[in-house]
Amino acid sequence: MIAQPKLLGAEHMRVRGTVQGVGFRPTVWRIASELGVTGSVINDAQGVLIIAVASPEAIDTLARRIHAEVPALARIESFERQAVALPVPLPGAFVIEASRPTATAAMTTAVTTAVAADAATCADCVAEIFDPFSRRFRYPLTNCTHCGPRLSFVTGVPYDRARTTMAGFAMCTACQSEYDNPADRRFHAQPIACHVCGPRLSLQRMDERVFTLDSFTFLDDCDAAGTLLARGHIVAIKGLGGYQLACDATQADAVDRLRALKRRERKPFALMAASVDDIRAWCGVSEAEALLLQSPAAPIVLLDKLLMGSKLGTKTAIAAGVAPGLRSLGFMLPNTGVHHLILRRMKRPIVLTSGNLSDEPQATTLQALKQRFPVGIDYVLDHNRPIARRVDDSVQRVVAGAPQVLRRARGLAPEPIRLPAGFEAAPPVLAYGGELKNTFCLLRQGQATLGPHIGDLEDAATHADWRRALLDLQAFFDFTPSVHACDAHPEYLSSKFAREQSPQTVDVLHHHAHIAACLVDNGWPLQAGPVVGVALDGLGYGAGGELWGGEFAIASYTRFERRGTFKPVALLGGEQAMREPWRNTYAHLMAEMKWAAFDMNYGELPLHAFLAAQPRALLDGMLSRGVNSPLASSCGRLFDAVAAAMGVCREHAAYEGQGAVELEALVDAEVLQYEDEELGYPFAIPRLPASVSPERLAYIEPLAMWSALLGDLVLHTPVPTMAARFHKGLASVICKMVDKVAQAYDPNQPLKHVALSGGVFQNRVLLERVSQLLRAAGYTVLTHHRVPCNDGGLSLGQAAVAAARVLQPQLQESAPCA
Ligand SMILES: [Zn+2]
Ligand SMILES: [Zn+2]
Repeated sequence: MIAQPKLLGAEHMRVRGTVQGVGFRPTVWRIASELGVTGSVINDAQGVLIIAVASPEAIDTLARRIHAEVPALARIESFERQAVALPVPLPGAFVIEASRPTATAAMTTAVTTAVAADAATCADCVAEIFDPFSRRFRYPLTNCTHCGPRLSFVTGVPYDRARTTMAGFAMCTACQSEYDNPADRRFHAQPIACHVCGPRLSLQRMDERVFTLDSFTFLDDCDAAGTLLARGHIVAIKGLGGYQLACDATQADAVDRLRALKRRERKPFALMAASVDDIRAWCGVSEAEALLLQSPAAPIVLLDKLLMGSKLGTKTAIAAGVAPGLRSLGFMLPNTGVHHLILRRMKRPIVLTSGNLSDEPQATTLQALKQRFPVGIDYVLDHNRPIARRVDDSVQRVVAGAPQVLRRARGLAPEPIRLPAGFEAAPPVLAYGGELKNTFCLLRQGQATLGPHIGDLEDAATHADWRRALLDLQAFFDFTPSVHACDAHPEYLSSKFAREQSPQTVDVLHHHAHIAACLVDNGWPLQAGPVVGVALDGLGYGAGGELWGGEFAIASYTRFERRGTFKPVALLGGEQAMREPWRNTYAHLMAEMKWAAFDMNYGELPLHAFLAAQPRALLDGMLSRGVNSPLASSCGRLFDAVAAAMGVCREHAAYEGQGAVELEALVDAEVLQYEDEELGYPFAIPRLPASVSPERLAYIEPLAMWSALLGDLVLHTPVPTMAARFHKGLASVICKMVDKVAQAYDPNQPLKHVALSGGVFQNRVLLERVSQLLRAAGYTVLTHHRVPCNDGGLSLGQAAVAAARVLQPQLQESAPCA
């Protein structure tokens, strides 16, 4: 039998996703060349287009192997294949073509390719930096297609060197030949650079006085910076997405000076150490945590401090001022060669915090840094590769073996999040996020792209920066929204800006957005019916202008029926109640027992003396007349009230939720785990009177908790025991309320899924305990993974709710507000 000659076929393969600047084309080239496939691969505004000519079998193999061998930083969102006529003449080889804005006239011009997130220096590049025989020995900005700057240095699409902040650096012949060689790790690595042709570091004094390294025995600027840090100086370092301030983490004086300089009283600082092994001297690091630290995003990972006396003996202690009152430390590994070189010299961890004053955006130019810090920074380790956009450090942690994101920025944004089934036909939505920890979200073609963490919009500079970033990313993605979604709060700056952009915004209740974000995060399909949504946080705008912050609802993307809440208690002094936690204690105690009863039963407590010294007549007047003391069902403020009662963060909170964070750190784990639910402080679940709530909403009543807590104070019970009893009792009553809501949906077929969201669930003790109790009761628990449970995740939830309302308009009417 005579073998038939193999028939040739031709296909166009359209690949979308994170496929530019991540070594995708060389991978395709390599596989195609191995298979004898001819044709081409090209970057365009849509992503990557492959033209493949070969036998149908070889083309199938090519498609299969591309999926199997996708490079580390690449992510394929869609892969479409289309048979086409054989090109004339037939290509003689497989080639990588130069990028062009649009591949063919027939395709739409919308820019849909995703730009990759920045990635920490890969192991191969680190090895070169420390290899004396490599031509990049000690070159601090070494990178390749698997690592280096992306979002922080891209200025346009398609992704090409001319549209990055490396445009001004002409490659030397050695770099050019690496860049042109498809078999090289640096093939088309746009940030490629070396000692000869790349950006250069310079170590300067911030006061601009002349400073030379000549009299020192340093190798180079990074080494000198490391030595200066070790001597106790504060050094600004230009990172991937902004300038950061560093000091030796083991020197208390330096840490205190840095705090004073940043006007950051108590909020914890992040640390950077050279390796996971180094970190293990101060913190417990599980396998999952080690993987997270070493991931290309190289985020700050929150880790439990080792208890005194374990491994600490041989190592210098981290200064207490790094994370006052906390049981955890936030550590990250180096993400650029600069960090690697400095830490190699330091041999101990550094504090590395963004170059800004408390809540302002971090500086991305030396000029801005000098403006913000005219004095106080000793040296700056600068370089001349500009930063295209600000990208802060990401924060993650591991809960029950799974990573969670608390701040989504460097290394994570703008990686797209695929929306669950049912959202494929969603219109383009722009969601503006909340007021604090703002992110915004672009939703299109079934996927959501969140911009990097921006911060608190109340700060004028951050607000201006946010507007710029919002317009920048829209222009960058050639994105025109047809739907504008924002928080229902009329005074949020993000909502106001949304209303300036569009007369018809989709206003989403704060806590509905939290639950929707959690649903997307768990791939909950659009049609999949409701869950019990538990949204616990500081404050959010509820239906009818009420202030909510501890809500239990029957919830889906199109529905948010509130069925339970925390007891509404006055925010004594409005905003002031957040800054002075004792105000919440006072409001709670007056709501529960009035002064006479408190005075009679607890007169000998220091808490009594403290409250008695406050202007009580004024406060009582405000409470009785409801002046500047709106009612709020806030779980966050309950935490403040309880912590302050125990003497934890009583007079003044340096950051939102400080009381809760420090109370959690104090929890006595043995008391918490002890198998006796009675140990937990008791709460009741009565119904609100018809005068307050016509539907007589069920609420969590803390009177019994307060009696038990005050009794413990009388008995001088240790604070860690009381903190454990509070967490235990609260977790227990949350689960009881979930049962009520699940039953309320349908007593014969109660809801089986519970979504936990809102900033209160940053509290790991509470999150783990509630999850554990709910699972034991047979529920499936949905928690956050890729987007924060705090307000950093709101924009994703807003976008999903707005899209769902367009896709399922008939369900909208059946979604009562409260
Ligand atoms: Zn690399
Ligand atoms: Zn070079």
